[in-house]
Amino acid sequence: MVSSTTLATLLSGLVVPVFVQADPAASSLPDDVLPAANLTSDPIDREITTVEIPLDALPSLNNTSASGETANISYFPIEGLKEPLAVVYGDVILSTVPELLNQASNSNNSESKRALSIFRSGNVWPNGVVKYKWRSESAKNSGRLEAWTEATKRWTDLLPWLQFEEYPVSENLEEDILTLVDTTGQYACFSPIGQQWYGQMMLDDACGGAGTYTHELGHTLGLYHEQQRPDRDDYIIINCENVWDSSDGSPAVCGPDWCSGYGCNFYKLDPSVADWSGPYDSLSLMHYSPYEFAKSSGPAIEARPGVPTPQPHEFPTILDANRVCELYADQCTGVCGNGIIEPGEDCDDGNNFDGDGCSANCKTQRSCDVNICEPWRADSCHITTSCTALGGATQNGQFNHMCACRHGYKASKDNDPSLQVRLPWAHQKNRVFVRAGFSCDVLCDDWQLGTESCKEVQEEPACY
Ligand SMILES: [Zn+2]
Repeated sequence: MVSSTTLATLLSGLVVPVFVQADPAASSLPDDVLPAANLTSDPIDREITTVEIPLDALPSLNNTSASGETANISYFPIEGLKEPLAVVYGDVILSTVPELLNQASNSNNSESKRALSIFRSGNVWPNGVVKYKWRSESAKNSGRLEAWTEATKRWTDLLPWLQFEEYPVSENLEEDILTLVDTTGQYACFSPIGQQWYGQMMLDDACGGAGTYTHELGHTLGLYHEQQRPDRDDYIIINCENVWDSSDGSPAVCGPDWCSGYGCNFYKLDPSVADWSGPYDSLSLMHYSPYEFAKSSGPAIEARPGVPTPQPHEFPTILDANRVCELYADQCTGVCGNGIIEPGEDCDDGNNFDGDGCSANCKTQRSCDVNICEPWRADSCHITTSCTALGGATQNGQFNHMCACRHGYKASKDNDPSLQVRLPWAHQKNRVFVRAGFSCDVLCDDWQLGTESCKEVQEEPACY
């Protein structure tokens, strides 16, 4: 048995960063899990077809493994408002099926080549305004309106400058307005990438609710799947033998030079397709989770050692929001939740949860009378938190613990290490820690997120 005094001494000697970060309420999660994560085979036997189309039709999708002037692409059809739509990568609407087949049949006729709709140039939404409408009033039923509203909020909480502009209900497809179409029993939702001509988003009553809708909106805003990044093999392993078989029983083929069936959901994209800069984010909203499209034999995706396991689609990560911000650079005034107070934000405590120091939309800061580092206080809302277990910090000076500033801030223009230091812990390298009695109210010289931030403050080996 360890006495309480001994335990306190042991605890106080531990240098354990304790960062107070509320998690989303668990009760809000169960409805949001993509059903595919729980299915061990294709529930409606979608027929996946591979066609050969000219590279010119896919100007930004020309995989380097394709030879000559054509590339193979696998799709399955879903019902659209006017014509059937061709889906690739599991949930991405590429074009209409006739449009795709027209490309395929003309693969040797250069004069008829025309880029498919999805790849209209610069297909982000002008001015960061997503124009949308429902196909009918009844399309909003079965929880679709609630899930859509929640999904848009999950994005605008992070990106307050982003706008969703609703237009009157109409069955007609409009060139520049996304039409929200209700489907039933598809076990999946589908979206184009970016603004598509006469675009449609298919919202199913059984596709996973707000979490899946949020993922589809990621596509609509212009994001691809994270697991299709060219560098993904450094972070994850695709277990193709565990991927769903095709409806005819043939096994999936996952590339790299060739894919078929559901293996094409894990097709690695060419570096030229998009700007893949920035760290690989296995926790991205746009990353398939291990058991999506997986048979009962095991996970389709496995994280390599040290890489966080991908999770079911719920909320955008800060990295997801950063990518959207880069796509809409002219509109983006900041990312709420990155820990940096940017124009239009009243606060930013490094997360997107309500009920803590700063609201999910960075507009309301909880009132707080603590504005200097008091590491012995659990309620240190201005200073992010203490760098030690709170139980180990004492007010009598026995232990000189420090407080972590929010990202990008430091205590003083004087970079004297007796006032403030940086500490070499994983994920905290760009944070400044200050001594008790000081306030983190000075922006670092380079206050952007990243390991280069606040480098003028000396790094020390440990908290002291
Ligand atoms: Zn997707």
